[in-house]
Parts: sequence; structure tokens; C-alpha cells
Amino acid sequence: MTHKSHQIARQNWATNIQFQAQRFEMPTTIEQLQEIIHFSSKVRVVGAGHSFNDIADTSGTLLSLFGLNKQVDIDRDNQSATIQGGMTYIDIAPLLDKAGFALANLSSTPHTTVIGACMTGTHGSGDHNKILADQVSALEIVNAEGELLQLSRERHGEQFNGMVVALGGLGVVTKVTLDLVPSYQMQHEIYRNLPQANMESRFDEIMGDAYSVSLGTRWQDNLVNLVLKRRKLENGEPIPVEPSFLESTLIGTELFANYAMDRITFRENGVAGPWYERLPFFNIRGEIMGENERQSEYFVHRDDAIDALTAVSALSDQMASFIKITEIRTMAADNIWLSPAYEQDSVGIHFSWLPDHQALDQFLPVLEKALAPFNPRPHWGKMFTLPAEAVRKCYPKIQKFESLVAEFDPEGKFKNDYLNQFLSG
Ligand SMILES: Cc1cc2nc3c(=O)[nH]c(=O)nc-3n(C[C@H](O)[C@H](O)[C@H](O)COP(=O)(O)OP(=O)(O)OC[C@H]3O[C@@H](n4cnc5c(N)ncnc54)[C@H](O)[C@@H]3O)c2cc1C
Repeated sequence: MTHKSHQIARQNWATNIQFQAQRFEMPTTIEQLQEIIHFSSKVRVVGAGHSFNDIADTSGTLLSLFGLNKQVDIDRDNQSATIQGGMTYIDIAPLLDKAGFALANLSSTPHTTVIGACMTGTHGSGDHNKILADQVSALEIVNAEGELLQLSRERHGEQFNGMVVALGGLGVVTKVTLDLVPSYQMQHEIYRNLPQANMESRFDEIMGDAYSVSLGTRWQDNLVNLVLKRRKLENGEPIPVEPSFLESTLIGTELFANYAMDRITFRENGVAGPWYERLPFFNIRGEIMGENERQSEYFVHRDDAIDALTAVSALSDQMASFIKITEIRTMAADNIWLSPAYEQDSVGIHFSWLPDHQALDQFLPVLEKALAPFNPRPHWGKMFTLPAEAVRKCYPKIQKFESLVAEFDPEGKFKNDYLNQFLSG
């Protein structure tokens, strides 16, 4: 069997998870992939390895699809693109743009694989933007038997909503079809030091001010340190940027002086650029390193946003020494069974932490207790300590999802320690 096992990382991007897999395989054809799956008793895929927990790991064979051909097929009539399972947003975004198309939204890093991001419910921001998995209209998947199946929104209807955020539990996705929109230009508008009181009293106005808005805060001095607006430009022409916004002040890129400028997308306010150079935080041309980064994120109903943020703010002193930044983003409700925004407009409260594991072990339960009244849904790909029953309670369709897993993978080949925590059977 031809494979390139030496090229697969033995740990995740953040280096806090050492994969326990016995074998690492990088098939170069679908037939090889099918054979590996057929003959493995336990198997999983790792995408870019950007998840912060052991969701991608397995005790058996860990696969990477980076060895498969990288191909983007654009269907102009249906405004869709079919790409291969190992491809990242970096691989596809410039190609889509060149063909006159775009994706409706992106997360903060295009370095993840498309399917790895979708599997954990990855999202960007924007009151009217849904999570990235909502862009998926079809999947090609190898199931536990090694059979190649074609799944689609059109053919599978409501069941398809259980397949696009599936935590890698249904099989290995070899192709993904994504909905496209016409290519668009955007501009950044970056403000500094928004009074926290203004965020609380005018949250809807702030988050609805542009196509995608996110807020960054270290929870100190009653200030929201950053307001990042990504404005869609209808005719591609930049529009004038206001010098202040609800008492926050327009700033340039000096705030990002600690970042090498090729690593981030933020350059100047009010300068038009392609969607894929404005929506993410990290630049497609830059490398990003993970040793000093840990992340957690909790999603609450939009109506609970202010109460939940107030509860987090009350913990500011306790997290001051190990928080890098909190990012607050919004998502529109969807019907995807395991989506963090399932049937509710949602607010994501994200935390980038310094890698102080002792502090995090103690603090995450405290944070989760403070958020408990709001039934927080944890990001599937980040760090959390919520018990399984608290997580299951947030997902009314979890039993239906379990039935889907039993159908696709009756022997539990794709199950790992992570999935066994949350899924029964
Ligand atoms: C710097 C950084 C920034 C981030 N920003 C955001 C953000 O803005 N928004 C957000 O929501 N999240 C964010 N995340 C989290 C990240 O998007 C998720 O962890 C995502 O799942 C990582 O994608 P990946 O390709 O690395 O997948 P992995 O972490 O490698 O895998 C994730 C899951 O997908 C499964 N999987 C991967 N490929 C396949 C396949 N072909 N078939 C079946 N299953 C598969 C894996 O088995 C695993 O279960 C960020 C992470 C980092 C490190």
C-alpha cells in the first residue's frame, strides 16, 4: 500500500494533544482510503489538526487526506463548488474568487480544512450569517464498510442536517459541495476602547452595523478593546469610515504591532479587498503557530447575550493572568442538528488563552458554572469541561444523530474517546 505516513503530524496544531493512534496513513487514492477503512477496526481523519481537544484522535489508524488530488470543480449554473476532503480554505478561496465566486462567510483562520471546520460547527460572525457547515449541500463519504456514498441536501432532506456537523462520526468525507455566492469586496473598520456599558446597552446596533462584526475584549477597565467591522461593499468601492463609533476611536494597524503583518488580514481601514482577505483574522499567506494558544468558546441564545457577558465580566480578575482575548461574535439560527446555533440566533463567547493548563483546569468549570443559567453550548473543537449530560441537553436532536451514527457505523469504527463521552450506544 502506497502511503506517506511520515508527513502526518503526531500532535494537534496547539501541541496540547499528542495523538494516540497506532498507525498514521496518508492515502493517495480513494481506493487506498477505502481499503484502509475496510481493514481498520478503529479509524479517524485529522484535518489541519486545529482543534484543541482530542476530537480527531483514535486508538487505531489516523488518516490524513492531504495526499489526495486537490481539485476544485465549479458548477456555474448551480453556483456551487465540489472540492476534495483534504482541502483547506486557503486552497480554495483564491480559486473561487478568480472564477467570480465567494463563500458567504469564513472563520478567523482559513488554515483549517473545509470539512474539518464543518465537522465541529466552525463559524465566523454576522447577524445574518450561519455557521460554515450551512454552506454544504452535498458530501461524498466512505462509510465503515469502505463503501463510497453520495449524500445531499436534496436527496436526504432533514437527515442531511445531521450529516454536516457530524464530529467525524459518520465516516471519512472525501468530497464536499459548497454553495457559492457572487464574489464580493469588503473593507475593515477597526475601533478601539468601546465602553462596556455601550456594548451592553446597544449590543444589537453594534453587531448589526456591518456584514460581520466581532468584539475583542480582555475584560479590563470596563472596556471592549476592539470593534472589528467587516463591511461588504456593494459596488466594490470603499466607503468613508467614521472617526469614532459609540465613543470608541478608529485606529490603524498599530494595535497589531506584535503580529507579523503577513500573518493577519488587518491593514488599513476603508481599503477594499477580496472577501477572503477581509473576513478571516489570519492571512492566507501567513504561517500561524500554535504552542502559545489555547481556545474555548461557548454559545448562548442571542436573547441571553448581555446577561451571559455580564456573568463572564464578573470573572475578569480571575482570568486576567492567562486570558489573551475574548472574541464575541453572532450567528444566525440554523437547522443543523449539532450546530451551536441550532434553532436559535446565537452569540459565541470565545476565549483565547495562554497555555497555562493548571489555571485552565481550575477556571473552565468556574466559567461554565457562571454560564450555566444560559445553557451554553461548547464549541466541539475547543477546550471545555462540561459534563456529557449538560452538553446533550443542549441538542434536542442528539438521539437522532446517534441513530445516524449507528446506521453508518454499526461497529463504532469511527468512535473515539471523545465521541464516547457524548454519544450513547
Ligand atoms: C487559530 C485558530 C483559529 C480558529 N478560529 C475559529 C473561528 O473563527 N471559528 C470557529 O468556530 N472555530 C475556530 N477555530 C476552531 C477550528 O475551526 C476547528 O477546531 C476546526 O474543526 C479545525 O479544522 P481542522 O481542519 O483543523 O480539523 P481537525 O481539528 O483536524 O478535525 C476536526 C474534526 O473533523 C474531523 N474531520 C476532519 N477531516 C475529516 C474528513 N475528511 N472526514 C470526516 N471527518 C473529518 C476530525 O476527525 C475531527 O473530528 C480556530 C482554531 C484555530 C487553531
